[in-house]
Amino acid sequence: MQPNNFYRPTFAQVDLNSIKVNILNLKKHISSFVDVIAVVKANAYGHGDLEVSKAALETGVRMLAVATPDEAIRLRTNGIESPILVLGYSPPSFAVVASENDITLTVFQEEWFLHIQPLPRNLNVHIKIDTGMGRLGVITELQLKTLIQTISKRSDVKIDGVFTHFATADEEDVIQFTSQLDKFKRMLQLFPERPRCIHTANSAAALIHAESLFDAVRFGISMYGLSPSAFVSRELPFQLMQAMTLHTEVVHIKNVLAGSTISYGATYTVSKDEWIATLPIGYADGMLRGLAGQEVLIQGKRMPIIGRICMDQCMIRLDRPVNIGEPVILIGRQGNEEITIEDWAQKLHTISYEVPCILTQRVPRKYTHTLVFDINRPN
Ligand SMILES: *Cc1c(COP(=O)(O)O)cnc(C)c1O
Repeated sequence: MQPNNFYRPTFAQVDLNSIKVNILNLKKHISSFVDVIAVVKANAYGHGDLEVSKAALETGVRMLAVATPDEAIRLRTNGIESPILVLGYSPPSFAVVASENDITLTVFQEEWFLHIQPLPRNLNVHIKIDTGMGRLGVITELQLKTLIQTISKRSDVKIDGVFTHFATADEEDVIQFTSQLDKFKRMLQLFPERPRCIHTANSAAALIHAESLFDAVRFGISMYGLSPSAFVSRELPFQLMQAMTLHTEVVHIKNVLAGSTISYGATYTVSKDEWIATLPIGYADGMLRGLAGQEVLIQGKRMPIIGRICMDQCMIRLDRPVNIGEPVILIGRQGNEEITIEDWAQKLHTISYEVPCILTQRVPRKYTHTLVFDINRPN
């Protein structure tokens, strides 16, 4: 858990209302018969699993999804009572614990059931079908038939759902997507009884592929206000609200003489007298060295990070002197300027998903609940 109080002025702010607005806008976009499963794996993509789960449930979301058994247990232990689906692999030894804690598991191997003891309570499972992602799931019709038969022989296991995962739902080319959807529909024919919850869509498919909705969508990245890809961001049916911003303050400032160098390796040389400020955030916080040269916002203006980013600190060049304690926005809006998670992702040659996930535990998460109609008012 993150501390409520912290002394270093570096923190990530997570606006839970933005998360709620993204869910409510998605609900409006998809039919009211389609449920939203809020994906809160990986500490809710770095945003804080408990806080995000509660916010999502407040919007009427009925099920949460995590990646691992341990993530599910953490939610239960902390008082989350909604249905929870573990999307990834759970070892057979977890089955008893899952049934006791009413945690729904993903299954895709017939042999898995050879290893589970009789269960104290009924276990809900979702069958995962690999339609082309090549990660987890039954592949052939025979495998699926056998798995369904194996489960039907057990009175303590219930097939609550069936799902698949798309490899290219966020791309313009729909060939792979369509073939995966077709295979999924063919495999659905093999169920003697229709499972309660059929689901295929991740954020991208939920936003742009109405034909993939079925009973529920698994809403991950875009719940946090981020677009799954550049293509989807051009096709968005509504505007997403980025929930996370990253903040620090100037802790030291100096006028440095021309010819001096800054940071490890002395890679940056001051060309004329410059104002150089030090910020208390570094790569151990997730501000990776690849972000050297990225800009930050101070007094509504962009100022560059110069020299190498250190483990705990980095330096920036200012065009003016500012006070110690001057607020710095690393990700977010200040005045008319904005630095987005997508900007960081581009600088790091990666995707937006990675950026909030790599902000380490050392960065406290602070929660706000800005009301929708208040978003343009200064804080
Ligand atoms: C992570 C994950 C999702 C969510 O995907 P987004 O692109 O973040 O919406 C959905 N389904 C599965 C199986 C996942 O692992």
